[in-house]
Amino acid sequence: MGAGNGGRSVKMYRLLLFDRDGTLTYEREDYHRDLSRLFGYPFTSPVLKAFHTAGYLLAVVTNQSGIARGYWKLGEVETAHRRLCREWDVTPSFHICPHHPDDGCDCRKPAVGLLNEAMDVHGSQPEESLMIGDSLGDYLAARESGMHFGLVLTGRGRVTRSQLPSLPTMVLDTIADLESHV
Ligand SMILES: [Zn+2]
Repeated sequence: MGAGNGGRSVKMYRLLLFDRDGTLTYEREDYHRDLSRLFGYPFTSPVLKAFHTAGYLLAVVTNQSGIARGYWKLGEVETAHRRLCREWDVTPSFHICPHHPDDGCDCRKPAVGLLNEAMDVHGSQPEESLMIGDSLGDYLAARESGMHFGLVLTGRGRVTRSQLPSLPTMVLDTIADLESHV
């Protein structure tokens, strides 16, 4: 399947960067009021553990403007991420933009700040890094930073697919599809 989907193998990369909502976790209408209802998909833990065990570096890059909007505090988001890591039994690095879209920060995707931070932390270059997400912002951030991009069709992915200005490196039904691209 990998050969038919852009011809790229995940083996080309050492750092996998994942969007959170709609990519690793359910995108819930009401979760933003209750972080205890933030849950990974059933396949998230097995997939992350498999790639961690195989030696890949893992990062999560996530826009969380709910912090600027006052829905929750950064510390509460970090606490929820620690819970997810316990449930997943794997600990990727987390990179969070807490700003409002109107703040004009350089970290909120489609800006590249979060992706650059993840590469810095892991000592990885863009050409050995793969961004995986469900939104146009994920695609644009990856392109701007020089990374390849894998579109997942979970979350907003099916809508995003029709909006992309060029083909992504990979189209994945879910992140579980990554295992067929190794
Ligand atoms: Zn930001």
